[in-house]
Amino acid sequence: MITLTDVTKTYAGGVTALDGVSLAVGPGELAAIVGPSGSGKSTMLNLLGTLDRPTTGRVHLDGHDVGALSDAGLSALRASRIGFVFQQFHLAAGTSALDNVADGLLYCGLRPAERRRRAATVLDRVGLGHRTDHHPHELSGGERQRVAIARAVAGDPALLLADEPTGALDSVSGQAVMRLLRELHSSGTTVVIITHDRELAASLPRQVHMRDGRVIDDVLRREAPVVEVIR
Ligand code: ADP
Repeated sequence: MITLTDVTKTYAGGVTALDGVSLAVGPGELAAIVGPSGSGKSTMLNLLGTLDRPTTGRVHLDGHDVGALSDAGLSALRASRIGFVFQQFHLAAGTSALDNVADGLLYCGLRPAERRRRAATVLDRVGLGHRTDHHPHELSGGERQRVAIARAVAGDPALLLADEPTGALDSVSGQAVMRLLRELHSSGTTVVIITHDRELAASLPRQVHMRDGRVIDDVLRREAPVVEVIR
């Protein structure tokens, strides 16, 4: 689904944030990108999300060479294929949960009534069907993040990129958000979670470990085998 090949990213000032990274994330994966602060995770998110272009190397999204697309072409591809979730939710204040989600569908070519109908369905799916008229300041942190996730998946993206999605939440709300991300994954969405939380990362099927701009380990965790107990 998304492939990075020999990617480097050097910022103005000469900091090499990614130093020869190759990584492929396939459809249906649930993966963590994990590493300490400064290891290059946000830079990786920006490249996986096609928000930024590599200094050298190639990025392919759904077979499209990101480097060969115009800015407008890339924006259109991103809007239709990728949903983003951030640590600080990034909801519009003074706007209801329903409209926050519906506004995420502005560029889908749907009529306003259809956008709102779909937003209501997705809010229901994330367990907030009873909060559609609430504004962000009337919601808990966990509820805000669930609105943000509803907004990210309302357009049915193939890839959901979540940057420290539980970083601003207490542990109970964080667990609810992780349950929701797992449910979305079970229903077919590819999910990549950027985190510095090793415990969270260890609970996911795949962990890509980063340090100093490089992938130092890529671990596939096998699901625990089902053991039949014969008495
Ligand atoms: P992480 O998300 O793991 O904390 P980052 O990708 O943010 O890592 O940063 C990797 C390195 O790149 C760090 O040394 C950071 O200071 C540097 N860096 C990140 N963004 C920029 C930028 N826009 N300009 C210059 N240096 C940057």
